[in-house]
Amino acid sequence: MNPLNRLNFDNSFARLADTFHSKLLPTPLPEPYLVSFNAGAAALIDLDSQEAVREDFAGYFTGNRLLPGSEPLSMLYAGHQFGHYVPQLGDGRAILLGEVKNKSGEAWEIQLKGAGVTPYSRQGDGRAVLRSSIREYLCSEAMHGLGIPTTRALCIVGSDEEIYRETIESAAVVTRLAPSHVRFGSFEVFYYRRQAEPIAALADYVIDRHYAHLSGEPDRYARFLAEVVTRTARLMAQWQAVGFAHGVMNTDNMSILGLTFDYGPFGFMDGFDPGFICNHSDHEGRYAFDQQPYIGLWNLSCLAQALTPIIPAEEAQAILDSYPAQYEAQYLNLMAAKLGLMQPTEGDAELVSGLLTLMKAGRVDYTHFFRSLGQFNSLPGELNPALRDQFVDRPAFDHWAESYRARLVQENSLDSERKYRMDSVNPKYILRNYLAQIAIEKAVSQRDYTEIDRLLALLSHPFDEQPEMEQYAALPPDWAQHISVSCSS
Ligand code: AMP
Ligand code: MG
Repeated sequence: MNPLNRLNFDNSFARLADTFHSKLLPTPLPEPYLVSFNAGAAALIDLDSQEAVREDFAGYFTGNRLLPGSEPLSMLYAGHQFGHYVPQLGDGRAILLGEVKNKSGEAWEIQLKGAGVTPYSRQGDGRAVLRSSIREYLCSEAMHGLGIPTTRALCIVGSDEEIYRETIESAAVVTRLAPSHVRFGSFEVFYYRRQAEPIAALADYVIDRHYAHLSGEPDRYARFLAEVVTRTARLMAQWQAVGFAHGVMNTDNMSILGLTFDYGPFGFMDGFDPGFICNHSDHEGRYAFDQQPYIGLWNLSCLAQALTPIIPAEEAQAILDSYPAQYEAQYLNLMAAKLGLMQPTEGDAELVSGLLTLMKAGRVDYTHFFRSLGQFNSLPGELNPALRDQFVDRPAFDHWAESYRARLVQENSLDSERKYRMDSVNPKYILRNYLAQIAIEKAVSQRDYTEIDRLLALLSHPFDEQPEMEQYAALPPDWAQHISVSCSS
C-alpha cells in the first residue's frame, strides 16, 4: 500500500458551506524536487521521515499528485491591509488539502503555499518563489524553537518553472501545517457583506474545534473573543521580547489561534532599534517593531467589530479594553525573565526601559547582549567589561548595572543559577537576516540546500550551546546592513 495513504484525513473545513471556500485542484509544477524536509513537523502528522526519500514525494507536496483522502480548497477571507479594508482577498496561492488527525488525536491542516492560481488570485500568478519559501520555512521553525506559537513547515519542494518578480526566480511550494488557517479576515469578509449567519457559523466551527471548552456555552462568542485577545496580547509580547518584527500585520495575516502567521519580509533585530522597519515597502512604518503591540490591538478591534453581529458592542469593547494591561503584564514577565529575575516587582518596568534606552542609543545587539547578560557578575565593584564594552556610553551602563545589581541582591540571586535560567529564555541563535540570505543564495545559485538543513537543525535548539556552530551566533557582517527585504514573494 502507498504509505501516504495512511495519512488520516478528516476535512472539516471542506464540509462547511461553499460560502467559506472554493474547491479546486492545485496546478502542477514541472519536475518538482525536494529542497528540504522537516522531520520534526512530519511527526505532527505521523508522517514517517522515510517517505521523504520516495521518488514521488515531491509531486505530492506540489499538488501534482493528490494525497489520498485530501479535498483541496482555497479559503475565502478579506482583511485590512495597511489600514485599508480590502473586501475580498482569500487564498490567492495557497491550497488547503484538508486536516490530518494524528495518533494523539490532534488535527493538523496541511496547506500548500504556491500551488497555483485560485479564484482569489486577483492579478497574482498563484506561485511562491524559492527565496521566500526558504524564509517562511526557516522562520516558522525558528519561532517554534523559541517557544513562540506559529504555523509549522513540513517541507519545501522546488521546480525550475520561471517566476517573474523583480527578477526571474524559480518556483517553490512550502507545505504549511497549522491546527487552523482561519484568520481575523475570515470573519471580516462577512461583516462587510452584512451577513451575520456565516459569522456565527464560522465562530461555532472555530470554537468547537479549537476552543472546545466554550462549545455550546450561551456566552461563548464573547469568551472566544476574550481568548483571542489574550492569545494575541501574549504573542505580541513574545515578538517584542525576542526582537521579532513581522512586517505585514494585516488582519488577513492574524491567526484566530494567536499563531505567528504568514512570513513575508519579517526580521529579527540586530542592533536594538525600536523604530525598526523590516519591510522596505512599509514607507510609513505602520508595522515598525515598536508599533506591533498597538497594531495587535487595532487588528483585534477589526475582529471585534466583525463579531458585533454576535457579540453586543459594549461587551466587545470591554474585552478589547483588557488588552493593554494583558499585554503589559505579559511583556514585563518576559523581560523580567530575560533579566533573570524570578518575581517581577514594582520598578522592574523602569529597569527594563532604562536598559532599552541605553541599548537604543548604542544600537547594542539585542540577542547577543541578553545572552551575554547571563554572565553578569554581581560582586560589588565588578565592572563586567564584556557587557559594558557593548555600549557607547559606558558610564551610563555602569549606572544601570548598579541598579540591576541592587535588584539581584534584593532577591538573593545566585549568579550561576541565574545564568542557567537566563540561558533558557535568551536565545543564543536566531534567524538573522544574513543567515537566511546565505542559505538562500546557496540554494538559488548552486542548488546547494545543505545550509537550509543546517539552519533548521541549529534553530530548533536556539537556547543550547552548540560549540561547533559558534560562528552562527556572531554579530552580523557589514554586508548584512545592505540586505533589502521587499514584500515580493
Ligand atoms: P500576503 O501579503 O502574502 O499575506 O498576501 C496578501 C494576499 O495576496 C493574499 O490574499 C494572498 O493569497 C495574495 N497573494 C500574494 N501573492 C500572490 C500570488 N503570487 N498570486 C496570487 N495571490 C497572491
Ligand atoms: Mg497572507
